[in-house]
Amino acid sequence: MSKVLAALEAALGDAVATDEAILKAHCRDYWSRSELTDWLGDAQPLPLAVVTPRSTEAMAEAVRLCRAHGTVMVTRGGGSGVCGGVLADRDQVVLSTRGLDGLEHLDSHNLLATFGAGTMGMAAEEAVAAEGFTIGNWPQSIALSTVGGWVATRASGQYSTAYGNTEDLVYDLEAVLPDGSIFRSRPTPRAAAGPDLRQLLLGSEGTLGVVTKVTFSLRPQAECGIRQAFHFADFATGIEAMREVIRPGWRPPVVRLYDARESRRHFRDTCPQGRAMLIFLHEGPEAHAEAEAAAVADLCRARGGEAADKQTVDDWFAHRNTVPSWRELFEQGLVVDTIEVATDWRRLNALYEATLAKFAAVPGLVAASAHSSHAYRSGANLYFTFAVSPEREAMLGAYDACWRGAMEAAAELGAGIAHHHGIGRVRRDWLTTELGAPGVALLRTVKRALDPDGLMNPGVLIPEG
Ligand SMILES: Cc1cc2nc3c(=O)[nH]c(=O)nc-3n(C[C@H](O)[C@H](O)[C@H](O)COP(=O)(O)OP(=O)(O)OC[C@H]3O[C@@H](n4cnc5c(N)ncnc54)[C@H](O)[C@@H]3O)c2cc1C
Repeated sequence: MSKVLAALEAALGDAVATDEAILKAHCRDYWSRSELTDWLGDAQPLPLAVVTPRSTEAMAEAVRLCRAHGTVMVTRGGGSGVCGGVLADRDQVVLSTRGLDGLEHLDSHNLLATFGAGTMGMAAEEAVAAEGFTIGNWPQSIALSTVGGWVATRASGQYSTAYGNTEDLVYDLEAVLPDGSIFRSRPTPRAAAGPDLRQLLLGSEGTLGVVTKVTFSLRPQAECGIRQAFHFADFATGIEAMREVIRPGWRPPVVRLYDARESRRHFRDTCPQGRAMLIFLHEGPEAHAEAEAAAVADLCRARGGEAADKQTVDDWFAHRNTVPSWRELFEQGLVVDTIEVATDWRRLNALYEATLAKFAAVPGLVAASAHSSHAYRSGANLYFTFAVSPEREAMLGAYDACWRGAMEAAAELGAGIAHHHGIGRVRRDWLTTELGAPGVALLRTVKRALDPDGLMNPGVLIPEG
């Protein structure tokens, strides 16, 4: 038995697992490329062990022991990441946060709830919903991801346009740093006390520490919800309508614009051929939701939007978290993935067109489309889906070509390369186009200072060099 395994077992007992079934279930995430590699017959190696500590102190002990033995640690939450952030090799240890599970404290007066970082998103939302509150973070993967994973990847929920993304909802957090010390950010509603150190962990993707607790600032559940939808002549006109809705200060939680191809795919019964569907959910006190819905309807009509049947939004709600399995698609000869990027309003349609043109240049492309699901005062995201149907031996190459095209389109237009899925392995080589060489150098300096031996999730986020 390896020395690190013996030390971990002596300190943490049955929190250490080496059964093959458990190792298999923890060796990778939902990244389409690693599932494809697996499907093509090149199985991902299994890690040395999966350690599931049940307290922050036990997590800190696991980190200290791995460090003392020079062992690489791959932190894992729900494993729902789609960028290859959780790939553990033979001699590496997976630190699962799932033992840090559940609601620790709910303060209804201050609208605060603290969870173990390994609490699944849906369980967290249900725990506060039982008391009449909401976290307001509804990633499509809410049933597959943990609240610590949300922090580590800066996840975005479907209601983000009103309620914000993970970084806007986290009040306070706790993390085990790579040297085994325990960091706790200051629990205060706002601070001018130096840089916000929570931001070191937000988006750190397991490279700078293990997030062990997360406190969210809650909202009371909305008194009223109003659904409506409009379809537009084309995607570009829909983008302008979105911009005009956001500009004066309206903030519907859900604002989603689908291009003509996706509108037909999702709303065949309610969207005429060639039109782009824009759907809204308005929430809040009744007077606010009604005023917002009326103002938004006026703005949409002024842009030529035609009201769609309310069934449109009901259909979206009914199917919003349904996703096909990668494997079923591979079996049909299709290589499929999604890529989300972001830019300002001026460049949004150009980014849409440029990315689709890059996809179109990939041999074997069968479909490419996009929607926008997160809107801000100064811009929005685009969420692309591509499907290619190459020969079996060309599948990985076609996958890489689609990603390269999307990243090149974003880089050429100066757009953001990742809106919410993170960097992981799939975008790592493109991070310099986002942060610039000095930005990447700064990140490497921080990494070296915190994790001088490079033991926390190497190969993820930070480009080699
Ligand atoms: C069907 C589907 C739909 C999705 N929809 C959305 C969506 O709507 N919005 C969105 O933002 N994302 C979405 N995702 C992506 C994914 O769910 C998010 O990135 C999520 O935040 C990952 O959480 P997780 O707990 O599964 O993390 P994991 O996949 O386990 O890990 C992701 C990364 O975070 C690190 N990490 C995880 N937990 C911790 C921790 N406690 N401390 C330090 N590092 C940690 C890991 O090392 C890894 O680098 C979707 C994924 C799928 C499969």
